[in-house]
Amino acid sequence: MNPGPLLISGDREPVPGRATDVRGLLMDHFLYRDGRLFAEDVPVAEIAASVGTPVYVYSAATLLRHYGLFDDALAGMPHTVCFAMKSLSNVAVLKLLGDAGAGMDVVSGGEYRRARAAGVPGDRIVFSGVGKTREEMRLALEGGIKQFNVESEPEMIALDEVARAMGKVAPITVRVNPDVDAKTHAKIATGKSENKFGIPISRARDVYRLAAGLRGLKVMGIDVHIGSQLTDLAPFEAAYRKVADLTLALRADGHEITRLDLGGGLGIPYVRSNEAPPLPSEYGEMIRRTVGHLGCEIEIEPGRLISGNSGIMLSRVIYVKSGEGRDFLILDGAMNDLIRPAMYDAHHDIIPVIEPHAGAPVQPFDIVGPVCETGDTFARARNMPLLAEGDLVAFRSAGAYGAVMASEYNSRPLIPEVLVKGDQFAVIRARPTFDEMISRDTMPEWL
Ligand SMILES: *Cc1c(COP(=O)(O)O)cnc(C)c1O
Repeated sequence: MNPGPLLISGDREPVPGRATDVRGLLMDHFLYRDGRLFAEDVPVAEIAASVGTPVYVYSAATLLRHYGLFDDALAGMPHTVCFAMKSLSNVAVLKLLGDAGAGMDVVSGGEYRRARAAGVPGDRIVFSGVGKTREEMRLALEGGIKQFNVESEPEMIALDEVARAMGKVAPITVRVNPDVDAKTHAKIATGKSENKFGIPISRARDVYRLAAGLRGLKVMGIDVHIGSQLTDLAPFEAAYRKVADLTLALRADGHEITRLDLGGGLGIPYVRSNEAPPLPSEYGEMIRRTVGHLGCEIEIEPGRLISGNSGIMLSRVIYVKSGEGRDFLILDGAMNDLIRPAMYDAHHDIIPVIEPHAGAPVQPFDIVGPVCETGDTFARARNMPLLAEGDLVAFRSAGAYGAVMASEYNSRPLIPEVLVKGDQFAVIRARPTFDEMISRDTMPEWL
C-alpha cells in the first residue's frame, strides 16, 4: 500500500527528480496560489488581518494526513499511534487527531488533562517522562491509562505504592536505554547511556524481576525512545533489534511481553534541499522487519512528523534596518514565540507571503525579533527578496515545538493559534490582552 505523499509545509508543485523534491512525493497545504500564500483554502494574509501577528496557523488536512501515514505504515500489526503531544498540545488539535483514532503520549499531568479535555479516552494514553510525581500517577490511575512508561526503579516503587493504595494495578512498560547514538542534536538525543532517560538495557532483566514482584504493577511490555529529529533509520533499527532480543530474554524469564512502545523521533525535512528523511512507510517496514514477528501490539509516539510541517508562524516586518556590512529584517515574532533557532540552532525556511516574481532580486538579511537578546536571531545572512515594513513572512515547519515552547519573555503575550480546515479558520487559542497578562500577577497586602 502506498501511503501517499508526505506533506512539507510551504512546498510547491512536485518537481520530480529535483534535489528539493522529497523523492517525487511533495504535496502541500501551504501553497502559493496566484502569488499569495494559502493555508488550505484560506489566504494567510486574511488570517493575519483578522487575528493579528505573530500567529501560529495549523492545517487540519496536513495533521490528519501525517497521522494517517503512520497508521497506514503499521497496517496489519495491532498498533496504536500515540501522538507525542508535547510537540503541539492545543486541545483542538488533540481533538482532531483523537477523533481520527490517535492515542496520546503525555509527559505531565497537564498534558494528561489536556488529552482528556480533548475527549481522548484514558485507554489510548501512555504516560512517559523521567519525573512523574505521585500526584500525576494518581491522576492517571483515577482517569484511566493505557500504560505508564516507567523510567527508573524508584519510580517503579512509587507507582506500585500509589496503585496499591488506590486498590488498582498499574499497567507498565519499562523504558530501556539501548545505548545507541541517534546522531541528532545533543539536546534531543536520549538513547545514549549518559542520558537521563530509561534504565540501561544491560540491567533490564533485573529491573523486570523487581517489577514482577510488585503487586501494584502489571508488566505489559518494553518502551524505547532514542531521540528526536532522526533522519536515518539505522539508529532506530539498532535499538529495535535490541528490543527484540530483550523481548525473547524477558519471555524466557517468564514475563509476559505483549506490547512494544517504540517511541517517536522520526525527523522532518526542515530544509528542502536536505536529503529526505525516511518516510513513515519505510519506518513501518523496518518495524515489521525487526519486531513484527514477536506478536506484540506496536505503539509508536511520533510528534514532530505529525505536527511539524502542519504549522507555520506568520510574522510581520517591523523595520528593515541597514547595519555595518549586514542588513536586518526586524520582525514582530521573536525567540519567545519560536525558540527553536535559539535553542537548537534550528533552521526554519522563512518565505514571503506574497510570492516573489521569478528572477526577483534577493539579498542576504539577518532575520531577528525585537527581544533584547542576541540569541533572538532566526537566521543569519539569509537570502530574501527585498521586503518592506508591514510585509508578511511565514516560518515553515513551525507546528512542532513552536507554540508549546513559547513564553512571555519581555512581557510579550503568548501568540494566538489558528486552525484551518478547508476554507474555514478558527482561533483555537486567543491572544491574551495585556490586562490579562498583567493581572495574573498579584500584589502582597504588605506592599
Ligand atoms: C519527545 C518525545 C517523543 C516525540 O518525539 P518526536 O521527535 O517529536 O517524534 C516521543 N516519545 C517520548 C518519550 C518523547 O520524549
